[in-house]
Amino acid sequence: MRTPRYGVGVRKRLDEVHKQRSQKYQCPRCKKLTMKRVYSGVWKCNKCGLEVADNAYSMSIKTIR
Ligand SMILES: [Zn+2]
Repeated sequence: MRTPRYGVGVRKRLDEVHKQRSQKYQCPRCKKLTMKRVYSGVWKCNKCGLEVADNAYSMSIKTIR
């Protein structure tokens, strides 16, 4: 069976987080707004290639050690 099974409840939640999720975030290393979500909880900077594990749908970090 290849039927996609995305319930209505899940789609509603996805709508809510979609704004955050598709946003770009500031890279803690090069300070550019190039951090994009690669997959759940992992963000990557397109500029310097830095990968960060953070929240699944948004980034909370602002600085890096
Ligand atoms: Zn960067």
